[in-house]
Amino acid sequence: MVEALREQIATERGSSAVSDSKRLTQVEARLRAAVAPRLRRVINASGVILHTNLGRAPLSRAAVEAVAAVAGSYSNLELDVDSGRRGERAALLSGLLTSLFECSAALVVNNNAAAILLALTALCKGREVIVSRGQLVEIGGSFRMPDVMRLSGARMVEVGTTNRTRADDFEQAVTTRTGALLRVHTSNFRVSGFTESATLAEMARVARAHELMLLDDLGSGATEPIADEPTVADSLRHSDVVTFSGDKLVGGPQAGIVLGATELGAAAVRKMSRHPLARALRIDKLTLAALEATLKQRLTGRLEDIPVERMLRVPVEEVRRRAALWSVKLEERGVRTRLVSGESAVGGGSVPGHGLPTTLVAIEGPASRLAAAMRRGDPPVIARIEAGACCLDPRTVLKGEDETLIDAVEVAARSLEG
Ligand SMILES: *Cc1c(COP(=O)(O)O)cnc(C)c1O
Repeated sequence: MVEALREQIATERGSSAVSDSKRLTQVEARLRAAVAPRLRRVINASGVILHTNLGRAPLSRAAVEAVAAVAGSYSNLELDVDSGRRGERAALLSGLLTSLFECSAALVVNNNAAAILLALTALCKGREVIVSRGQLVEIGGSFRMPDVMRLSGARMVEVGTTNRTRADDFEQAVTTRTGALLRVHTSNFRVSGFTESATLAEMARVARAHELMLLDDLGSGATEPIADEPTVADSLRHSDVVTFSGDKLVGGPQAGIVLGATELGAAAVRKMSRHPLARALRIDKLTLAALEATLKQRLTGRLEDIPVERMLRVPVEEVRRRAALWSVKLEERGVRTRLVSGESAVGGGSVPGHGLPTTLVAIEGPASRLAAAMRRGDPPVIARIEAGACCLDPRTVLKGEDETLIDAVEVAARSLEG
């Protein structure tokens, strides 16, 4: 309150006098801005299903309810209610994960970046880790594989070239100092043309022959094949330890899921969970609740209840019907539209270059001004500009958001009139 008045006085000092009513309005606006939520819901009409800037996966209803149920009360987070002794929070989900993914050990940490850092630190510190030059990726923000490697204390040994790496390159690089072979899924780009990369199976053969560990940073954690995205099951068949995100294709909250296959992998996961860094990278109870609910939906085959799965699977005819309905409603309110064919994107660094056919509602008018007006609306609507038009993709708009979206688009379009 005092701050708002001070700011007002400062503004008035620097300009000509204002009327009392104008002053009141301005102070009110300042107060409103001060208490407005910083993190708020937006409607994602961009057509990018896993949009990192928009919080990646929206949670299922069951996950939201699970969060609400533990958020405002005490929970058995680290209590074994049967024995009354101290329990392990990480142990709460490991059984679910090993059943769902049919593997021998599991651990959950804060996110996939944390999972990789923990794996490299706990398992490879002071040792060499062999990785293909074609996989030294930056995932966005500041997650660069060579930097994470340095931070962990493991020494990175690069093999192959940007476009070609063979199994033999790994073989040649093995020394007595080698701790592991690492495969990083090149999630956000594709190298095409004259390319070759060692398959995970080939890398596994080299690892086995030298009794080395094979780590796989899978990225998005696909449970079923989408285009050529490697699945968790593919990875578990060959690697010892696999890590991926909870909020990409799994469709749950931000989390880093670590799975161990083989005896070597299971021992590695146990070692990771006992490492002091695991405490710093642990997940909180709200995440745990949301992840448990999401994993149970997967385990019971209720994939349609997970928003990300629904968006991936919705047939193009259904998207088209929804787009046509929006178009009619917007036209009725004087907003000129047309339907155009386009593609939705999986996003989140999953399946680059693979679009899902969709129908877009293009709003007539100055595209970037329209998109900006929608973004500044309440709730903000995130559109996408394509072929010079401001477009809405129904695929990523959640059930029940249609009317709010139509209202917001109408308000934005009107704000540009006159
Ligand atoms: C997304 C991604 C990461 C980072 O995962 P976060 O859960 O965001 O920390 C790391 N590696 C790969 C290959 C990825 O696709």
